[in-house]
Amino acid sequence: MNIRVSKLKLYGVSFLGAMFLSASLFAAEETAPGVKDVTEEEFTPAKEVLNVKYVEMEKPYHIDVESLKGAFKDASSVKITLQKQDKAFPNGGGSVTGAEVKAIHDGLTIYFQITWSDQTRNARAIAVQEFRDACALMFPLGAVEITPAEHFSPRMGDREKPTNIWHWKADWEADLLVKGELEDVEVQYPNMHDDFNLNPYSAYYHRELITSVEVLSGGRAANNLLSQPGRGRTVEDLNAEGFGTLTTQDHQDVNGCSQYADGAWTVIMYRSLITQDPHDVQLVPGGNTYFNMAVWNGGEQDRNGQKNISAQWHPATLEKVAWQ
Ligand code: CA
Ligand code: CA
Repeated sequence: MNIRVSKLKLYGVSFLGAMFLSASLFAAEETAPGVKDVTEEEFTPAKEVLNVKYVEMEKPYHIDVESLKGAFKDASSVKITLQKQDKAFPNGGGSVTGAEVKAIHDGLTIYFQITWSDQTRNARAIAVQEFRDACALMFPLGAVEITPAEHFSPRMGDREKPTNIWHWKADWEADLLVKGELEDVEVQYPNMHDDFNLNPYSAYYHRELITSVEVLSGGRAANNLLSQPGRGRTVEDLNAEGFGTLTTQDHQDVNGCSQYADGAWTVIMYRSLITQDPHDVQLVPGGNTYFNMAVWNGGEQDRNGQKNISAQWHPATLEKVAWQ
Protein backbone atom coordinates (compact mmCIF):
# COMPACT_ATOMS: atom_id res chain seq x y z
CA MET A 1 0.00 0.00 0.00
CA ASN A 2 2.85 2.24 0.86
CA ILE A 3 4.29 1.77 -2.61
CA ARG A 4 0.93 2.60 -4.20
CA VAL A 5 0.51 5.73 -2.06
CA SER A 6 4.07 6.77 -2.84
CA LYS A 7 3.43 6.32 -6.56
CA LEU A 8 0.18 8.25 -6.32
CA LYS A 9 1.98 10.98 -4.45
CA LEU A 10 4.77 10.98 -6.99
CA TYR A 11 2.39 11.14 -9.96
CA GLY A 12 0.27 13.71 -8.16
CA VAL A 13 3.26 15.92 -7.49
CA SER A 14 4.47 15.45 -11.08
CA PHE A 15 1.02 16.27 -12.42
CA LEU A 16 0.72 19.37 -10.23
CA GLY A 17 4.26 20.33 -11.17
CA ALA A 18 3.42 20.05 -14.87
CA MET A 19 0.23 22.09 -14.33
CA PHE A 20 2.20 24.76 -12.50
CA LEU A 21 4.92 24.79 -15.15
CA SER A 22 2.48 25.17 -18.02
CA ALA A 23 0.58 27.86 -16.10
CA SER A 24 3.88 29.66 -15.49
CA LEU A 25 4.86 29.35 -19.14
CA PHE A 26 1.44 30.61 -20.19
CA ALA A 27 1.76 33.57 -17.79
CA ALA A 28 5.32 34.15 -18.95
CA GLU A 29 4.15 34.22 -22.56
CA GLU A 30 1.72 36.98 -21.75
CA THR A 31 4.09 39.12 -19.72
CA ALA A 32 7.59 37.97 -20.71
CA PRO A 33 10.05 39.18 -19.72
CA GLY A 34 8.02 40.60 -16.83
CA VAL A 35 6.79 43.45 -18.99
CA LYS A 36 3.32 43.98 -20.39
CA ASP A 37 2.82 45.57 -23.77
CA VAL A 38 3.05 49.33 -23.94
CA THR A 39 -0.08 50.82 -25.48
CA GLU A 40 0.09 52.88 -28.66
CA GLU A 41 -0.93 56.13 -26.96
CA GLU A 42 2.16 55.92 -24.75
CA PHE A 43 4.25 56.65 -27.85
CA THR A 44 2.38 59.91 -28.41
CA PRO A 45 3.86 62.78 -26.41
CA ALA A 46 1.53 65.10 -24.49
CA LYS A 47 0.28 68.13 -26.43
CA GLU A 48 1.07 70.73 -23.77
CA VAL A 49 4.61 72.09 -24.09
CA LEU A 50 6.66 73.12 -21.05
CA ASN A 51 8.19 76.50 -21.77
CA VAL A 52 11.60 76.73 -20.09
CA LYS A 53 11.67 80.46 -19.45
CA TYR A 54 14.84 82.44 -19.86
CA VAL A 55 15.38 84.51 -16.71
CA GLU A 56 18.18 86.97 -16.13
CA MET A 57 19.17 86.21 -12.59
CA GLU A 58 21.94 86.54 -10.09
CA LYS A 59 22.85 83.01 -9.07
CA PRO A 60 22.04 82.88 -5.34
CA TYR A 61 25.00 82.29 -3.04
CA HIS A 62 23.05 79.53 -1.35
CA ILE A 63 20.61 77.75 -3.66
CA ASP A 64 17.37 76.73 -2.02
CA VAL A 65 13.67 76.82 -2.87
CA GLU A 66 13.19 80.19 -1.13
CA SER A 67 16.10 81.90 -2.87
CA LEU A 68 14.82 80.76 -6.29
CA LYS A 69 11.19 81.77 -5.65
CA GLY A 70 11.60 85.13 -7.39
CA ALA A 71 13.19 83.57 -10.46
CA PHE A 72 10.25 81.16 -10.88
CA LYS A 73 7.65 83.91 -10.36
CA ASP A 74 6.66 84.32 -14.03
CA ALA A 75 7.36 80.77 -15.23
CA SER A 76 4.34 78.94 -16.58
CA SER A 77 3.61 75.45 -15.34
CA VAL A 78 2.55 72.16 -16.84
CA LYS A 79 0.34 69.75 -14.91
CA ILE A 80 1.41 66.12 -15.16
CA THR A 81 -1.04 63.29 -14.50
CA LEU A 82 0.54 60.45 -12.57
CA GLN A 83 -0.57 56.86 -12.22
CA LYS A 84 0.75 53.68 -10.67
CA GLN A 85 3.56 51.88 -12.48
CA ASP A 86 1.63 48.93 -13.90
CA LYS A 87 3.91 47.31 -16.47
CA ALA A 88 7.11 45.91 -15.03
CA PHE A 89 7.47 43.83 -11.86
CA PRO A 90 7.75 44.93 -9.04
CA ASN A 91 5.00 47.42 -9.76
CA GLY A 92 2.59 49.52 -7.73
CA GLY A 93 2.18 53.07 -6.51
CA GLY A 94 -0.78 55.29 -7.32
CA SER A 95 -0.97 57.41 -4.15
CA VAL A 96 0.29 60.54 -5.96
CA THR A 97 -2.04 61.43 -8.83
CA GLY A 98 -0.40 64.54 -10.21
CA ALA A 99 2.47 67.01 -10.11
CA GLU A 100 3.18 70.49 -11.40
CA VAL A 101 6.40 71.24 -13.28
CA LYS A 102 7.99 74.62 -14.01
CA ALA A 103 11.40 75.29 -15.55
CA ILE A 104 13.69 78.25 -16.07
CA HIS A 105 17.24 78.82 -17.30
CA ASP A 106 19.67 81.73 -17.15
CA GLY A 107 21.79 80.78 -20.17
CA LEU A 108 24.10 78.63 -18.02
CA THR A 109 22.02 76.59 -15.61
CA ILE A 110 18.58 75.00 -15.97
CA TYR A 111 16.25 74.65 -12.98
CA PHE A 112 13.23 72.32 -12.91
CA GLN A 113 10.73 72.81 -10.10
CA ILE A 114 8.39 69.92 -9.29
CA THR A 115 5.55 70.24 -6.79
CA TRP A 116 3.23 67.50 -5.57
CA SER A 117 0.95 66.72 -2.64
CA ASP A 118 2.19 64.22 -0.09
CA GLN A 119 0.82 64.05 3.44
CA THR A 120 3.93 62.30 4.81
CA ARG A 121 7.47 63.67 4.85
CA ASN A 122 9.67 60.58 4.49
CA ALA A 123 13.29 61.68 4.53
CA ARG A 124 14.95 58.65 6.09
CA ALA A 125 15.38 55.12 4.78
CA ILE A 126 17.61 53.47 7.35
CA ALA A 127 15.26 50.94 8.97
CA VAL A 128 14.25 48.11 6.64
CA GLN A 129 10.58 49.14 6.88
CA GLU A 130 11.32 52.75 5.90
CA PHE A 131 11.28 54.20 2.40
CA ARG A 132 12.14 57.65 1.15
CA ASP A 133 10.14 60.25 -0.75
CA ALA A 134 11.75 60.96 -4.11
CA CYS A 135 11.12 62.21 -7.60
CA ALA A 136 12.85 61.80 -10.93
CA LEU A 137 13.05 63.54 -14.27
CA MET A 138 13.96 61.62 -17.41
CA PHE A 139 15.20 62.92 -20.77
CA PRO A 140 15.95 61.12 -24.03
CA LEU A 141 19.65 61.23 -24.92
CA GLY A 142 20.53 62.93 -28.17
CA ALA A 143 18.29 64.73 -30.64
CA VAL A 144 15.18 62.62 -31.03
CA GLU A 145 11.74 63.10 -32.48
CA ILE A 146 9.14 61.13 -30.56
CA THR A 147 6.06 60.21 -32.58
CA PRO A 148 3.79 57.15 -32.74
CA ALA A 149 5.86 56.10 -35.77
CA GLU A 150 9.16 56.58 -33.92
CA HIS A 151 8.65 54.48 -30.81
CA PHE A 152 10.54 55.67 -27.74
CA SER A 153 9.18 54.18 -24.55
CA PRO A 154 8.25 56.79 -21.92
CA ARG A 155 8.99 54.09 -19.34
CA MET A 156 12.77 54.33 -18.92
CA GLY A 157 13.57 54.23 -22.64
CA ASP A 158 14.35 51.26 -24.84
CA ARG A 159 17.31 49.26 -26.04
CA GLU A 160 19.46 51.62 -28.10
CA LYS A 161 17.18 54.47 -27.01
CA PRO A 162 18.92 55.59 -23.83
CA THR A 163 17.71 58.11 -21.31
CA ASN A 164 19.34 60.35 -18.73
CA ILE A 165 17.57 60.23 -15.35
CA TRP A 166 17.88 62.75 -12.50
CA HIS A 167 16.75 61.18 -9.22
CA TRP A 168 16.22 63.48 -6.22
CA LYS A 169 16.07 61.67 -2.88
CA ALA A 170 14.75 63.17 0.36
CA ASP A 171 17.19 61.17 2.50
CA TRP A 172 20.21 62.37 0.51
CA GLU A 173 19.10 65.90 1.28
CA ALA A 174 18.75 65.02 4.98
CA ASP A 175 22.29 63.56 4.83
CA LEU A 176 23.67 66.94 3.80
CA LEU A 177 22.43 68.51 7.01
CA VAL A 178 24.13 66.12 9.45
CA LYS A 179 27.73 65.99 10.62
CA GLY A 180 29.69 63.66 8.37
CA GLU A 181 27.07 64.09 5.64
CA LEU A 182 25.55 60.65 6.11
CA GLU A 183 22.72 59.68 8.46
CA ASP A 184 23.77 56.32 9.80
CA VAL A 185 22.15 53.49 11.76
CA GLU A 186 22.91 55.20 15.10
CA VAL A 187 20.60 58.06 14.11
CA GLN A 188 17.70 55.65 13.74
CA TYR A 189 18.68 53.49 16.73
CA PRO A 190 20.50 55.75 19.24
CA ASN A 191 20.67 53.02 21.90
CA MET A 192 22.05 50.34 19.63
CA HIS A 193 25.12 48.35 20.56
CA ASP A 194 27.14 45.96 18.51
CA ASP A 195 29.00 42.73 19.22
CA PHE A 196 32.31 44.52 19.61
CA ASN A 197 31.00 46.34 22.69
CA LEU A 198 30.46 43.04 24.52
CA ASN A 199 34.11 42.02 24.24
CA PRO A 200 36.42 44.08 26.48
CA TYR A 201 39.45 43.01 24.42
CA SER A 202 37.78 43.71 21.13
CA ALA A 203 39.26 47.11 20.46
CA TYR A 204 42.79 45.78 21.05
CA TYR A 205 42.58 42.46 19.22
CA HIS A 206 40.34 43.61 16.41
CA ARG A 207 41.72 47.10 15.89
CA GLU A 208 42.68 46.31 12.32
CA LEU A 209 39.24 44.92 11.59
CA ILE A 210 37.21 47.71 13.17
CA THR A 211 39.16 50.41 11.41
CA SER A 212 38.99 48.71 8.02
CA VAL A 213 36.66 50.45 5.59
CA GLU A 214 37.06 47.55 3.15
CA VAL A 215 35.86 44.98 5.68
CA LEU A 216 33.18 46.97 7.47
CA SER A 217 31.79 48.99 4.61
CA GLY A 218 32.10 47.17 1.32
CA GLY A 219 29.84 49.69 -0.41
CA ARG A 220 32.05 52.58 0.57
CA ALA A 221 35.20 50.69 -0.40
CA ALA A 222 33.66 49.98 -3.81
CA ASN A 223 32.89 53.69 -4.24
CA ASN A 224 29.17 53.02 -4.28
CA LEU A 225 27.55 56.45 -4.36
CA LEU A 226 24.81 55.32 -1.97
CA SER A 227 27.36 54.46 0.73
CA GLN A 228 29.58 57.51 0.35
CA PRO A 229 29.59 60.14 3.07
CA GLY A 230 30.10 63.64 1.75
CA ARG A 231 28.60 62.95 -1.66
CA GLY A 232 27.55 66.61 -1.46
CA ARG A 233 24.42 66.34 -3.57
CA THR A 234 20.78 65.38 -3.36
CA VAL A 235 20.32 64.11 -6.93
CA GLU A 236 21.73 61.01 -8.58
CA ASP A 237 22.63 61.25 -12.27
CA LEU A 238 21.76 57.97 -14.04
CA ASN A 239 21.15 56.31 -17.38
CA ALA A 240 18.61 53.69 -18.40
CA GLU A 241 17.89 51.86 -21.63
CA GLY A 242 14.69 50.08 -20.64
CA PHE A 243 13.50 48.25 -17.51
CA GLY A 244 16.23 46.75 -15.35
CA THR A 245 19.06 48.76 -16.88
CA LEU A 246 19.26 51.68 -14.44
CA THR A 247 22.92 52.60 -13.98
CA THR A 248 24.52 55.32 -11.92
CA GLN A 249 26.96 57.54 -13.76
CA ASP A 250 30.66 58.00 -13.08
CA HIS A 251 30.21 61.72 -13.66
CA GLN A 252 27.57 63.21 -11.35
CA ASP A 253 26.36 66.58 -12.64
CA VAL A 254 22.95 67.29 -11.10
CA ASN A 255 22.04 68.82 -7.77
CA GLY A 256 18.82 69.81 -6.06
CA CYS A 257 17.04 71.31 -3.09
CA SER A 258 13.60 70.94 -1.57
CA GLN A 259 10.99 72.33 0.76
CA TYR A 260 8.25 70.39 2.50
CA ALA A 261 5.33 72.50 3.70
CA ASP A 262 1.54 72.16 4.09
CA GLY A 263 1.47 68.56 2.88
CA ALA A 264 3.40 69.20 -0.32
CA TRP A 265 6.91 68.78 -1.63
CA THR A 266 8.60 71.39 -3.78
CA VAL A 267 11.78 70.02 -5.33
CA ILE A 268 14.15 71.92 -7.59
CA MET A 269 16.71 70.01 -9.65
CA TYR A 270 19.37 72.00 -11.46
CA ARG A 271 22.31 71.39 -13.76
CA SER A 272 24.49 73.20 -16.27
CA LEU A 273 22.67 73.39 -19.60
CA ILE A 274 25.71 71.80 -21.25
CA THR A 275 28.06 69.24 -19.66
CA GLN A 276 31.16 67.40 -20.81
CA ASP A 277 29.59 64.03 -20.05
CA PRO A 278 28.51 62.10 -23.20
CA HIS A 279 25.95 60.25 -21.06
CA ASP A 280 24.09 63.47 -20.19
CA VAL A 281 21.23 65.17 -22.00
CA GLN A 282 22.48 68.46 -23.44
CA LEU A 283 20.06 71.35 -23.19
CA VAL A 284 20.41 74.20 -25.65
CA PRO A 285 18.64 77.57 -25.41
CA GLY A 286 16.31 77.87 -28.40
CA GLY A 287 16.15 74.06 -28.67
CA ASN A 288 13.62 71.39 -27.75
CA THR A 289 13.63 68.28 -25.65
CA TYR A 290 11.22 65.90 -23.97
CA PHE A 291 10.93 64.92 -20.35
CA ASN A 292 9.05 62.43 -18.24
CA MET A 293 8.83 62.02 -14.50
CA ALA A 294 8.10 59.80 -11.53
CA VAL A 295 7.34 60.34 -7.85
CA TRP A 296 7.83 57.96 -4.94
CA ASN A 297 5.87 58.24 -1.69
CA GLY A 298 7.90 56.49 1.01
CA GLY A 299 4.92 56.63 3.40
CA GLU A 300 3.11 54.25 1.03
CA GLN A 301 6.19 51.99 0.81
CA ASP A 302 7.00 53.18 -2.73
CA ARG A 303 10.47 52.16 -3.89
CA ASN A 304 12.09 51.04 -7.10
CA GLY A 305 9.37 50.06 -9.61
CA GLN A 306 6.59 50.80 -7.11
CA LYS A 307 6.07 54.44 -8.02
CA ASN A 308 3.79 57.06 -9.53
CA ILE A 309 4.59 57.70 -13.16
CA SER A 310 3.46 59.64 -16.18
CA ALA A 311 2.80 57.23 -19.07
CA GLN A 312 3.83 59.63 -21.83
CA TRP A 313 6.61 62.01 -22.76
CA HIS A 314 6.15 65.77 -22.36
CA PRO A 315 7.68 68.21 -24.83
CA ALA A 316 9.72 71.15 -23.55
CA THR A 317 11.18 74.10 -25.36
CA LEU A 318 13.97 76.33 -24.07
CA GLU A 319 13.63 80.08 -24.62
CA LYS A 320 16.59 81.76 -26.29
CA VAL A 321 18.79 83.90 -24.10
CA ALA A 322 18.27 87.66 -24.45
CA TRP A 323 21.41 88.29 -26.56
CA GLN A 324 20.80 85.40 -28.98
CA1 CA B 1 5.72 60.79 1.71
CA1 CA C 1 26.56 63.13 -15.82
